Amino acid sequence: MAVFASVFGKLAQRLSPGNIGETIQSHVGLVPNPLSERSKKLEPRIHDTRMVKSVCPYCAVGCGQRVYVKDGKVIDIEGDYDSPISGGCLCPKGGASFQLDINERRWTTVKYRAPYSTEWEDRPLDWVMDRVAQLVYETREATFRETNEEDKLINNTLAIGSLRWAMAAKERGATIIHVDPHFSRTSQMADIYAPIRVGTDIAFLGGIINYVLQNELYFKEYVQAYTNAPFIVRDDFRDTEDLEDVFSGLKPDHSAYDTRSWQYKLTKKGESREPTEEPSCRISNTLQSAAGLPGHAQCFA
Ligand code: SF4
Repeated sequence: MAVFASVFGKLAQRLSPGNIGETIQSHVGLVPNPLSERSKKLEPRIHDTRMVKSVCPYCAVGCGQRVYVKDGKVIDIEGDYDSPISGGCLCPKGGASFQLDINERRWTTVKYRAPYSTEWEDRPLDWVMDRVAQLVYETREATFRETNEEDKLINNTLAIGSLRWAMAAKERGATIIHVDPHFSRTSQMADIYAPIRVGTDIAFLGGIINYVLQNELYFKEYVQAYTNAPFIVRDDFRDTEDLEDVFSGLKPDHSAYDTRSWQYKLTKKGESREPTEEPSCRISNTLQSAAGLPGHAQCFA
């Protein structure tokens, strides 16, 4: 009981309002923090750096970054936990963007072709950044709207954005669907925002392909003339679902594939080895099986 009272008394003393901060830093409970003298002097490598807030350069998600700079050099990059988009997270690509900055093989000049010129010239990155900034500024000044026709505050410009061509298509009647787990500026501009669950993009894509094929919503002339969709893959081809994770043609010693079964089905017209040009052929069984549809074997005599 006496021991308990003693320990409790020390704990109360340690955790009194005046001592609590110091206690937390120097103790683990009542036990002194077991740091070596060397560890006590260690500092995080970013302790004397300047932090610059930035945005990951890789994709349109726009995750926030904290870039630590010392003596004019980037020391480290980490996720910005103040970012409402990413909350401090970076994917592996964003997390490795530090390597982009320090890579010795990184190009530091940009190919520039002046208006009406037929020649490309190398320009320093700084010059290009200034030029882009100036053009963005001029465009914004020329097109910025504070309110719309109903006098509602909008504070935007439709003249700048990575959605430029998508927006041009939208103005000509296209429907923009934005598929993304998180709501962004792209979602704001889209006609339909489809907030899928993370990791379900391939299933979603398969559903879209199925719908397009079932309803014949593809651009038939283009698909027939410029893609391999009209060609049917040979009947003896087997996919990984059929053969327990290997394709047909795997040699018995598993050293290589014999790829003959992967080829297109060929016509039997004389000695011709050309794929048929039978006009009724619409879509390959490869695409159709991807969408769960039967193939068009009648395309080939
Ligand atoms: S961290 Fe990853 S998800 Fe985020 S913007 Fe960069 S590349 Fe895109």
